[in-house]
Amino acid sequence: MTKKTVLRGASLSFHADPFVVGDKDSYTFFKDALIFIDNGIITKTGSYDSLKNEITDDSIVHDYSGRLMTAGFIDTHVHYPQTPMIGAYGKHLLDWLENYTYPTEAKFSDKEFASQVAKMFLKQTIKAGTTTSMVYGTVYKESVDAFFEESEKLGTRMLCGKVMMDRNAPDELLDTPETGYKDSKALVEKWHNKGRQLYVVTPRFAPTSTREQLEMAGKLYNEYPDVFMQTHLCETEGEIAWVKELFPERKSYLDVYDHYGLVGKRSVFGHCVHFEDEDFKTMSQKKASIAHCPTSNLFLGSGLFDLNKAKTGKHPVYVGLGTDLGAGTSFCQLQTLNEVYKVAEMKDSSITAIKGYYLATRGGAESLSLEDKIGSLEKGMEADVTIWDLSSTEILDYRIKLAKDLEEKLFLQMILADDRSVRATYVNGEKVYDNKNNYYKLD
Ligand SMILES: [Zn+2]
Repeated sequence: MTKKTVLRGASLSFHADPFVVGDKDSYTFFKDALIFIDNGIITKTGSYDSLKNEITDDSIVHDYSGRLMTAGFIDTHVHYPQTPMIGAYGKHLLDWLENYTYPTEAKFSDKEFASQVAKMFLKQTIKAGTTTSMVYGTVYKESVDAFFEESEKLGTRMLCGKVMMDRNAPDELLDTPETGYKDSKALVEKWHNKGRQLYVVTPRFAPTSTREQLEMAGKLYNEYPDVFMQTHLCETEGEIAWVKELFPERKSYLDVYDHYGLVGKRSVFGHCVHFEDEDFKTMSQKKASIAHCPTSNLFLGSGLFDLNKAKTGKHPVYVGLGTDLGAGTSFCQLQTLNEVYKVAEMKDSSITAIKGYYLATRGGAESLSLEDKIGSLEKGMEADVTIWDLSSTEILDYRIKLAKDLEEKLFLQMILADDRSVRATYVNGEKVYDNKNNYYKLD
């Protein structure tokens, strides 16, 4: 008989959007909680006192008293093939693509190389407490096979797609409208809904796809009711000017994607830093999502995203957090939140810790339309759980004793903590990482 798992510790989980209902009505917190897990699914959760008598002899209790349990964090925009070039020095987006990104991605025609990078990427992701990511592959379909194969070994719910790119990049990185469609479709058939893996139609961005390719991408996205779409949008001013030159017939950058049927409930647009009211309106009406990637936007000097306007303006839009490695600078979403906070301050608004933790968990799940599976610690959800040590460094240990309430403690994590604060990571109910004895499932 298989043993059931019970996790004990403080717990924080969101049931509503704090940007809509206000912070205090958005979450449930227990100082001492139990999470019951059976066969990868959360079967029960609540306070220790109310549930302690329900622990049965066939259960193994993992006691994390004094630590905080949250749903595994979610990254809605990241490039696994850029792991070997994280932290590369160099200028703005378009130079950076040419000088670093394309030469690195060209190496992924070698499946063995792709697998090695996927292993490193997933390990760092798990060690940062993130359990689901929406991931760009490269133009080579083998790079997507390599990624999903590694994700399957871990049991993670991951989303990934083959980059479609048929112009304005080095020859060896180009597909064609036909091969881009055919290879992507073969990958949908092979991987989409296989175990926990999900496929994402992935035109890199409008400047690297012809009209014909965008049309084929739209066709594929609309052929399946539950396949996803990801691309980049309005990241920098230079890029927007280029799109205007390439597609003079369209009224905006977003309109290029909209025209080809790429804007919908399961589409996620990276950045959207330079956005007009009309863009927010279209995104809101079509229920599309934005991936906010502040570490990347600051690193490349792209601009400041207006999170508050996106969430609470006239046309509210779903927003998730993205690390956007390798232009982003940390696997750890707490570090992303650190920059979310500062960018919001530059835009004359403040993001509370409650809103930050929501964006990293349920907010990310909602922006991926996966909130019925991941992003919260509730009955029926898949058991992806991260255990956090709130005093992971000497200064945090010192400072947190002076914190007056939960919100202050969480805010300290956003500003001062990093992946050292991840005590353990559970995927599908199984412990895959333990910081204490440096255990990682795939080592
Ligand atoms: Zn990106």
